[in-house]
Amino acid sequence: MTIALSDPATDFDHAGARLTIDIGAIVENWKALSARAGAARTGAAIKADAYGLSAKTIAPALARAGCLDFFVADPAEGARIRPSLPDARIFVLSGVWEGQERIILEHGLIPVIGSMEQLALFTGTTAPFALYVDTGMNRLGVTVGEAFALARNGVRPELVVSHLVCGDQPDHAMNAAQCESFQAVAAAFSGIESSLANSAGIFLGSRYHFDLTRPGISLYGGEAINGQPNPMRTVVSVEARILQVRSVKGGDVVSYGATHRCSQDGRIAIVAAGYADGWHRSLSGSGVPLRQTGLAGASVSIEGQRAPIVGRVTMDLTMIDVTDIDEKLARPGTYVELFGHGITLDEAAASAGTIGYELLTSLGRRYRRRFL
Ligand SMILES: *Cc1c(COP(=O)(O)O)cnc(C)c1O
Repeated sequence: MTIALSDPATDFDHAGARLTIDIGAIVENWKALSARAGAARTGAAIKADAYGLSAKTIAPALARAGCLDFFVADPAEGARIRPSLPDARIFVLSGVWEGQERIILEHGLIPVIGSMEQLALFTGTTAPFALYVDTGMNRLGVTVGEAFALARNGVRPELVVSHLVCGDQPDHAMNAAQCESFQAVAAAFSGIESSLANSAGIFLGSRYHFDLTRPGISLYGGEAINGQPNPMRTVVSVEARILQVRSVKGGDVVSYGATHRCSQDGRIAIVAAGYADGWHRSLSGSGVPLRQTGLAGASVSIEGQRAPIVGRVTMDLTMIDVTDIDEKLARPGTYVELFGHGITLDEAAASAGTIGYELLTSLGRRYRRRFL
């Protein structure tokens, strides 16, 4: 083996674990959601660093495609992304608290005010704010009663916002109930724009669209509606390299706790990703009592063929069974896909007993990232 001097430009080709993020697919997903939302304007949820995928890279691409409204979680996220979005409206979903007014004003952010206490901070100022109304989630927002009172008292937010509890379950009665109660609130604030739909809400139909939508997960290729085919384009592909392939004998054990015992002779590949990379320990093939019963561990994809994880996922390494895969494919140096095109984000998440949102937002810092 010859030792080549590392060139940062080609690091991606040699990284132990790497992420490909398809910006073009995100923009296409945004356009597809816009088309679905009809007359409503389509915003973008870029909180948590655009679901872990880099707001700094993604937000300007969406702005170039025509997105005017962005949603972050807290003021610091808003301040950080402002230089990349000089002209956009940036809404801060957690609102504002005493001591944060300056960062809000300096960066021209619009807090989504979620309580009467927060609103009191803004009384008597001319700074723009949005109003969060809780129509059933019991998370953030003033009550529907408080919202009506504010409307009667002439309070004029930039935007009135509420959030769906069960949007991912189209048949759930909460959807229609929230829609109806939000409709009444929106009507009380006549002439002011309103926004109810996250990704799932866009799929629920035009009654849910109001003036502005706030999709997140669908932009990033995840599933918004449970149990229905996902029409969005795949955005993220996560790969890790096989570091070693070893022969095992029937009766051998694999990984911590000896929870996997090989039933026959075979081959195990050691892959360079683990729970420190957000490749959750609950994806393990065995030995994770907390996972819902009945769920198998995850598989990875090698050139379209599936290889199951065996034993526990460890901090930096995961073992997979490659006994049934051609030795020419499953050999040291090649990359396996943890999720992406061969295995969807949502399938991998389900194997971990979680949802695509959590798998994306916990992707670790160690990945070499490439943007297409
Ligand atoms: C996160 C979030 C969104 C985006 O939700 P998705 O389900 O990812 O589309 C929209 N609105 C609010 C208030 C949110 O917290």
